[in-house]
Amino acid sequence: RSKQAGKSCATVFQPHMRSAVLERMRLQTDLVDALAAEQFRLVYQPVVALSDGRVVGFEALLRWDHPTLGAVPPGTFVPIAEDSGLIEPIGRWVLGEAARTAAGWQRAHPSPVPLTMAVNVSARQISSGLLTDQVVAVLAETGVDPSSLLLEITETVLVEDPERAAECLRQLHARGVRLAIDDFGTGWSSLSYLRQFEVDVLKIDRSFIASITDPDEAPDIVHGLVELGRTLGLEIIAEGVETELQRDRLRAERCDLVQGYLFSRPLERADADALLRQQQPAAALPVPAAPLDDR
Ligand code: C2E
Ligand code: MG
Ligand code: MG
Ligand code: MG
Repeated sequence: RSKQAGKSCATVFQPHMRSAVLERMRLQTDLVDALAAEQFRLVYQPVVALSDGRVVGFEALLRWDHPTLGAVPPGTFVPIAEDSGLIEPIGRWVLGEAARTAAGWQRAHPSPVPLTMAVNVSARQISSGLLTDQVVAVLAETGVDPSSLLLEITETVLVEDPERAAECLRQLHARGVRLAIDDFGTGWSSLSYLRQFEVDVLKIDRSFIASITDPDEAPDIVHGLVELGRTLGLEIIAEGVETELQRDRLRAERCDLVQGYLFSRPLERADADALLRQQQPAAALPVPAAPLDDR
């Protein structure tokens, strides 16, 4: 459409486009200082095991509190940060902050399988070639077990620069870090990609979960994605579970893990911490010394 308008040479640039471009430029300018000004924070959305309802981990999600605009959603500013290269230092901060939080929670709330912390990673961070060293440094600094760090990448990353991505992911995997494909099913990855990239987890995109409306039957695509994951021996996380019907259907499909507003919105750190304290299992508490037998 814009091509056509361009040919006729007239009003290609509409006022609403002008304001969109200006807003983008403004956000890009303001993003430059946001890290130093400590305007970023992370919120944490619980990942729940369907078998027993327990929180097994969290996904760290970035929030930007803009001094005058208020909360700017990541869907708006992350693409701008990606285009400008700022996602590189911001992503490094996210990684460190999420790992420090995970280390604290793992110490305070020990469990047989340590809590997982999922961190979103952009294509740019992978293509910079710096990610592996950053991850290694963060793991060493925080003492977090590599297997409790789950890096989420989208299929786009794998398609755009498959060779570099494969090398980067192979290095991370060799160090024990786990890898997830985010928004799975919306991109271009095929079975061969999944094998080539040694991923551990598939996160089924919430658009597919939203299509679950029949209590007796999952849509073919949902059934197929869960089945595919199982065949490949991958863990499956269903994203964006909002209704009990969806939860029950996913349980019937034998999907392991779920995430969504039905269970919890993303939480401030203190609230997530309180949730963990609340679910501390009796079995994980120190066992009281056996009473002396004074027969
Ligand atoms: P994502 O990684 O797929 O994260 C899931 C998004 O779905 C989050 O939006 C979450 O709040 C939202 N969500 C969770 N449960 C539900 C639900 O039941 N219903 C609905 N409608 N939505 C749900 P959020 O926090 O706005 O993040 C949007 C996207 O921004 C993320 O999608 C991710 O692609 C990106 N993002 C967020 N944090 C980071 C980050 O630290 N680094 C990078 N590179 N990208 C990030
Ligand atoms: Mg994600
Ligand atoms: Mg997702
Ligand atoms: Mg997404």
